[in-house]
Amino acid sequence: MCLGRLGLLLAASAVCLPGPAPAQSRQPALTAIRAGRLVDVERGEVRRDQLIVVRGERIEAIQPGTTRPPSGATVIDLSRYTVVPGLIDCHAHMIGDLTDADALLPLQRSGAEEAFSGVRNARSTLLAGFTTVRDVGTYRALVDAALRDAIDDGTVIGPRMAVAGAYVTVTSGGGELIGAAQDVTIPADYRFGVANTADEVRERVRAILNGGADFIKIMATGAVLTQGTRPGASEYTEEQIRAAVEQAAEYGTYVTAHAHGAEGIKRAVRAGVRSIEHGSLVDDEAIALMKEKGTWLVADIYNGDYIAAHGREHDWPEEILRKNEETTETQRAGFRKAVAAGVRIAYGTDSGVYPHRFAARQLPYMVRHGLTPMQALRSATLSAAKLMGWEDRVGSLTAGKLADIVAVPGDAMADLKSFENVAFVMKGGTVYKDAKASP
Ligand SMILES: [Zn+2]
Repeated sequence: MCLGRLGLLLAASAVCLPGPAPAQSRQPALTAIRAGRLVDVERGEVRRDQLIVVRGERIEAIQPGTTRPPSGATVIDLSRYTVVPGLIDCHAHMIGDLTDADALLPLQRSGAEEAFSGVRNARSTLLAGFTTVRDVGTYRALVDAALRDAIDDGTVIGPRMAVAGAYVTVTSGGGELIGAAQDVTIPADYRFGVANTADEVRERVRAILNGGADFIKIMATGAVLTQGTRPGASEYTEEQIRAAVEQAAEYGTYVTAHAHGAEGIKRAVRAGVRSIEHGSLVDDEAIALMKEKGTWLVADIYNGDYIAAHGREHDWPEEILRKNEETTETQRAGFRKAVAAGVRIAYGTDSGVYPHRFAARQLPYMVRHGLTPMQALRSATLSAAKLMGWEDRVGSLTAGKLADIVAVPGDAMADLKSFENVAFVMKGGTVYKDAKASP
């Protein structure tokens, strides 16, 4: 059965499609959720038998399970489940089909095809339990902003999104489309963020933010998946990255830096970026600097395994497979050191490089590499919300926050692998996946 707003159950996939926005005169929907186990990520504890009261799109109260549900409330029984805040992925790519290594694939697809790929990816992300994502880049500029808006106005089913709009990258750098012949001109909307001087960086940051992006993603080093670039090589000076940080600050927002190499990480951290993406070749000095400056680490420590297996199977270029091998285990070792040093950790997976339905697969990897299960879950909820600056609305099951609620069968904290099979997804008080309809 489908609850929340006007809904329609598609039995085959257990998806509830919200109908048109309710008429103004309707009372906000009132729902009471019986939670067998409720994970309080703020206090770091699991509480048995709780009642979550949801009015409209927000959590109204969390009470002991013995409390009588408010009259008129629709009751959802999740007493055999572990109930957690909606998950958050701080490094996701909703647009395109990145699981194919053909570097020029984005040029073979129309803008409409790119947008519809986002519709598919957003839907599977939400149904995997991720009610919020930070989308850190699309080759075709600002398709992510259009997807965010379409989700927000109810046209498309998907997570809440904060978007980067385009990659700020040097010419032929980590954020460029590569693989075309030297005399072929790549269209301008795939090169929206290309900037080679501090002044150009400022100008592109303004254009991206004026175009509707929420924050800035700068490519501080080369990339594993961009052929010809070197993950260890710095692509911007500290001064150029600082130009992005200062310009973004003028708009009240921040910069996150794609950075594998240790020198690129240090330049970005000194320049004042809010987070480091990947961090694969981080060294002790960079870790100490991140700790000192409070810089977040968003390390995608699962997908190296996926790329290795899928890439071999599908004949991905040797160069990509080699760079993936060179960064996977060093990244995990660096992650363990960063955790031990007390660097702030937020969950980010590079989903899109692998299928979005696997977005929770990284949780047990984080436990394997130094976090407790509670810390790992917190990285994908409260900490992620803090990195995004959204902790006032999402990231924990707290009265007053948006009712983004996910349930996993049984005692999910005993084995975070169980998060691969979330049974129930509510976003903003609307049920999108219903536990009763799940196998
Ligand atoms: Zn990425």
